[in-house]
Amino acid sequence: MINSIGLPAAAVAAFGRRLSGQLIGPGDDAYEAARHVWNGLIDRRPALIVRCADNGDVAAAVGFARQHDLPLAVRGGGHNVAGHGTCDGGLLIDLGVLKRVEVDTATRRVRAGGGCTWAEVDAATQAQGLVTPGGVFSGTGVAGLTLGGGFGWLRNKYGLSCDNLMRAQVVTADGRTVTASANENANLLWGLRGGGGNFGIVTEFELQLHPLGPEVMFAVTFYPGEQDEAVLRVFRDYCASAPDEVGGVSFQGVFPPDSPAYPPELHGRRFIALAGVYAGAVEMGKVVLEPLRNAAEPLADFSGRMPYVEVQHFFDADYPIGWHYYWKSLNLTRLDDAVIHTISEHASRQPSPHSTTDLWHIGGAIKRVSAADSAYGGRQANFLLSAEASWQEPNQDTANIAWARDLIGAMRSHSNGGAYLNFGGFQEEGEALMQASFGTQYARLQSLKRDWDPDNVFRLNQNILPATGL
Ligand code: FAD
Repeated sequence: MINSIGLPAAAVAAFGRRLSGQLIGPGDDAYEAARHVWNGLIDRRPALIVRCADNGDVAAAVGFARQHDLPLAVRGGGHNVAGHGTCDGGLLIDLGVLKRVEVDTATRRVRAGGGCTWAEVDAATQAQGLVTPGGVFSGTGVAGLTLGGGFGWLRNKYGLSCDNLMRAQVVTADGRTVTASANENANLLWGLRGGGGNFGIVTEFELQLHPLGPEVMFAVTFYPGEQDEAVLRVFRDYCASAPDEVGGVSFQGVFPPDSPAYPPELHGRRFIALAGVYAGAVEMGKVVLEPLRNAAEPLADFSGRMPYVEVQHFFDADYPIGWHYYWKSLNLTRLDDAVIHTISEHASRQPSPHSTTDLWHIGGAIKRVSAADSAYGGRQANFLLSAEASWQEPNQDTANIAWARDLIGAMRSHSNGGAYLNFGGFQEEGEALMQASFGTQYARLQSLKRDWDPDNVFRLNQNILPATGL
């Protein structure tokens, strides 16, 4: 008998009995909550959702999807902006239960299950005075962020998150569990460092730890939006000689009209903010971060010494679950005055008060990782530009998506067209975007894809097409 999702009912029931975890279908109470992802713009209905409890469940789910020719989506933290962590009519492998975190202070490594968020990993590692570089928001998954690259406050000192991936446990497209490390399947480890979820499902990440905190110096200073170009010039010049301990970010936006986080007189006013964490001693950080706080007369300054864990939660309230989001980025090598002018002009026209235009400085440790050690492709860039359109009203989708696309489109002539694919819009440019983003790494990635996933089972992601031929 075929059930309502078009699958043989007996086969689905047998599959469910094999699992240690939970099988959820459209008729189940848990389905509605389980199908949603963070981005409310993405509204998809998987035929089946498997909450995997172990590697065996993951392998069984991959096998079931292949046997019944179902599209396969994989979810770690469920925060992929493009919605890759879900699908319509296919099988969703949800790793959200795989939350074990183990800190090994002797080897300075942390092992984190494939469903962990950064909040969980940061809490465990900071309890030991250690850290591995994550993003700047606590709710994202370690999985998608690390596999796609991983930009956070510590990036110029300790590298991208993917640069700190030392070992991974991976369930492959043919259902095996393998280890990727410097000694085993080293080529696979190379691909997992920035090549996304293309090569298998990572059920455990082992990441390098570094000493930090518990307190750090954090600068986050807001200036009048009318002074955006002058402040950006200060930011650019500061980044040119800043030590690796600083991974600076600028962001332009509007103080949200109803936000209790800011004084009422600022509500609705345009700003440009400069921010950074000093990855070292707090007292030194105060001195080194000072220029980010003195770029002009501030409107507000929230800087200070703060537990690193608190810094990691600082922006959480700005990204509520269920709003609509479209984020698109571009790698920039130059930030000259003409570039600054174009960025600021577009930034001032954002349709939603919740959007921002961000610039992430790329330097230090990121630049020192060679192409032989990681698949991540954007290391030649000096800044990452990201148009983060965020809004609440569904009838504003078109205007907000158009704003982000226009901003990135206007900047293309200043770039090689490569992007940070975790802020990749809907990857509308298809393979051209992949080629531009991975550059000379792309051919090796295609060969790796052919070796580990020749049938492109893992394709609902930043997809790399398997190489054809030998
Ligand atoms: P998911 O939706 O679960 O998955 C993302 C992708 O990874 C999908 O293609 C999925 O198939 C694949 N995948 C997930 N888990 C696995 C696994 N275990 N094995 C193999 N493939 C897997 N990025 C930064 O670099 N720095 C930031 O500071 C930052 N801030 C952000 C803030 C917010 C509010 C949000 C929503 C995103 C932010 N991002 C940031 C982007 C983030 O890196 C991506 O959205 C990333 O995809 C999230 O990973 P996830 O595991 O939560 O996503």
